[in-house]
This record gives sequence, structure tokens and C-alpha cells, in this order.
Amino acid sequence: MTEYGDLEKRRQRAARNQSLFREVNERIEDLSSSATFATFVCECMSETCDESVSLTVEEYEHIRSTGNRFLVRPGHYEPDIEEIVEGNDRFLVVAKLGSGASVSEHLNPRTR
Ligand SMILES: [Zn+2]
Repeated sequence: MTEYGDLEKRRQRAARNQSLFREVNERIEDLSSSATFATFVCECMSETCDESVSLTVEEYEHIRSTGNRFLVRPGHYEPDIEEIVEGNDRFLVVAKLGSGASVSEHLNPRTR
């Protein structure tokens, strides 16, 4: 395996793992339509992360309107596999790099 290939495999694996957390958040949103703030799970690549993030449903919908987007806590961003596209003191919105981007689009819960 080349170094490039290893990085791309890592990016794809991260995108798949993080897509599972994205599915969890889709269910959370379904259950919390009337709340001003809802508590979503961090969609970072750490399998042991159990932190939560407070977002309005409007903020969450804005993130989900694009396939290659994940919601993570500040500090849970991994520069090898993703880039920050938006953020504030509560959360960051990240986009997958390289082949992780197409995995993210493919697993987009809104278009599958
Ligand atoms: Zn996290």
C-alpha cells in the first residue's frame, strides 16, 4: 500500500463510521421537532466519543442540506481527513476530503 492509499482508506473508513452517527442524529431530529435546541451526538471519527452538541433544528437542517457534511464538537476535527467549512463556539461543520467525500455523499441519509 502506498502512503496515499492508506490515507484514502482511512478517509473512507472515517466517512462510513461518521455516517452512522449521522443516522443517529436523523432519528434524534425526528423526535425533537418542537424544541428550540435539540441535543445531537458528535459525528467525529472517534469511536469512543460520546459527547453531545446542542443545535437548533434549523441549524441541523442547514448542515444536512449538503451530503458531504458532518457535525463535530470544536477540537474533534481531524485535518488529514476533513476540512472545516463552518463553525462557532458550539460546533464545527466539516467536509470529508478525497475519497471520503464520495463515501459521504453516497451514504447521505437524505438522498438514499
Ligand atoms: Zn466527537
